[in-house]
Amino acid sequence: MLENKFSFGFFPTPLHELKWITKEFPDYNIFIKRDDNTGLATGGNKTRKLEYLVKQAVDLGCDTIITAGAQQSNHCRQTAAACSKVGLNCHLLLRGDEPDTYQGNLLLSKILGATLHFAGDDVKAQTLEFFKQKLDNEGKKCYVIPYGGSNLTGALGFVNAVKELKEQLSAMELDIDYIFFASCSGGTQAGLTLGRELYKLKAELMPISIDKNETNGLTLEQAILNIVLEGAQKLNITKQFQLSDIKLLRGYDSAGYGVITDNEIDAINLMARNEGILLDPVYTGRAFWGMLDILKRKAIPSKSNVLFWHTGGSSSLFYYNDIFDK
Ligand SMILES: *Cc1c(COP(=O)(O)O)cnc(C)c1O
Repeated sequence: MLENKFSFGFFPTPLHELKWITKEFPDYNIFIKRDDNTGLATGGNKTRKLEYLVKQAVDLGCDTIITAGAQQSNHCRQTAAACSKVGLNCHLLLRGDEPDTYQGNLLLSKILGATLHFAGDDVKAQTLEFFKQKLDNEGKKCYVIPYGGSNLTGALGFVNAVKELKEQLSAMELDIDYIFFASCSGGTQAGLTLGRELYKLKAELMPISIDKNETNGLTLEQAILNIVLEGAQKLNITKQFQLSDIKLLRGYDSAGYGVITDNEIDAINLMARNEGILLDPVYTGRAFWGMLDILKRKAIPSKSNVLFWHTGGSSSLFYYNDIFDK
């Protein structure tokens, strides 16, 4: 099951110390995992998921992939790139109306050859199925990837990522105590949760919630638990997962999805100006803000080894140019 995938990315992604930030927070040793360097049209965490999802689509004999997201969706941009690589048609259902100018990820999705559909405010799961029916009726064989690629198939990418991390840590003779990352549609967290159990990783997961809203009537915790339960069964993991095993740090999502505050901007500027690493405003900027806040408050034990898992997204910076006036 874990072997059945395409090879789209550059793995293992680098893992290195964040020297300046460790100096700023001398109680901690701080490292970063560079999934912004996974490849596939600038990289990001969706590469790992798409290796499994697109393989399944091809195995099923599909010729077209449909997925959905925001106009600045990294997932849509990376799906378009993956489709290009294996010669599949890619249809993207995007929230909102067509803008006058294409910027950031939207521009990249277009360059990557995806067919773009501007769906107004109505981009729900039913719309995706409706859209699949329409294309199937036209003779296409469609494969639907859910938002963010977050089902069990996509999450396998992050089960595998834990194996990669374990090997990297053992080569570096390093133990990590806490892993911070942005969690939004849940596939990353579900995969890390399963992988942590499967490969006996000690580190505690510290997922920073990005979106305060429920999707399809489920809280993100419930949606993640559902993927984890299905995965545990298929991967023969005996642990009985419960809702209490799915933690989300909810203190940083109150502005809402994609609403950028000074907190994200400050976190992006800090990382850029001290480490030369680009974050993004929606996901990694918010997650990094959350991590720094927790370190500042000394809410985890001193001497901890901390890992920030960079999940990508910086190509959306070219859309958010007007918020960086500091
Ligand atoms: C999609 C995305 C995430 C969130 O990952 P999920 O698996 O959807 O929780 C985090 N960071 C970036 C840059 C993303 O594009």
